[in-house]
Amino acid sequence: MSAKIMDGNALAGEVRAEWKVRAARLAEKGMQPGLAVVIVGDNPASSIYVRNKATASREIGIYSEIHAFPESAGQDEVIQRIQELNDNPEIHGILVQLPLPRHLESNKVTGAIAVEKDADGFHLYNVGALVAGNTVFPPCTPYGVMKMLEKCGIPVEGQHAVVVGRSNIVGKPMALMLLQKGATVTICTSKTRELAEHTRRADILVVAIGKPHMITAGMVKPGATVIDVGINRLPDGKLAGDVDFEPVKEKAGYITPVPGGVGPMTITMLLCNAIEAAERAQARSVQV
Ligand code: NDP
Repeated sequence: MSAKIMDGNALAGEVRAEWKVRAARLAEKGMQPGLAVVIVGDNPASSIYVRNKATASREIGIYSEIHAFPESAGQDEVIQRIQELNDNPEIHGILVQLPLPRHLESNKVTGAIAVEKDADGFHLYNVGALVAGNTVFPPCTPYGVMKMLEKCGIPVEGQHAVVVGRSNIVGKPMALMLLQKGATVTICTSKTRELAEHTRRADILVVAIGKPHMITAGMVKPGATVIDVGINRLPDGKLAGDVDFEPVKEKAGYITPVPGGVGPMTITMLLCNAIEAAERAQARSVQV
């Protein structure tokens, strides 16, 4: 039997509708959530992502600002702008669009964001909180995956989850979030021997490699939930995931498509983090 498709656009729509209400509640109390996006250079993909984030922000009721710097911008001037945004009471969430030009140190730049405004969850404090099981702002892509599992009623506790990829923005936080929910977690990397032996044992398989169609049907356990984070541009211009979708669909229990799977959830969870940051700021202002 063919797998159930986890429709990221539909699920993202549900989550956005819920959080739009929360943004509107804040607005009634006189606080519109504000999100600032800092972008350096003219990477075409980054420019599209930033514009999409600004549009999605407006649609859900978030005020948004884009702070664009030329490729030649120095680290000090970018950090100074972030510090100004930290002090700006109209801005509740700040994110730096990655990747940054090579002469800038990502950790130093994202580390300049105030912890309570770190909508992407990349600040080392927030990374540490995630490790400690006390998440402040979960990184958006793994947060989106967890939300998809929750919305589709897929249990995590006691399941064997296999995460392929160990990047700081997807693989590692994904593994930690699954662990936090009680899964038994295996992390695979480019150095893993016999990858298929691990992936075939997964009840939940999350793939974040960046290589088109790498996970084939023979690598998947019948009935497994297969989450494809990968986004790859093929020579013909089409997008493809890391999973060989058509054959794997015939074997899995649930599967995410690419495009239209994890992607729409990632941006949605950024909006949720920004609204949550504003809610916390509002709660702090009431306490004072
Ligand atoms: P990175 O390049 O930072 O990490 C890729 C990971 O895959 C590395 O840990 C690498 O291992 C591992 N890997 C590479 N080859 C193999 C292999 N043959 N077997 C097992 N593991 C392997 O990528 P990201 O995590 O940033 O992104 C991964 C994919 O997800 C990309 O396609 C990206 O575009 C997409 N993405 C999608 C998002 C969305 O919203 N849907 C958001 C973010 C990313 P090692 O560490 O040993 O090198």
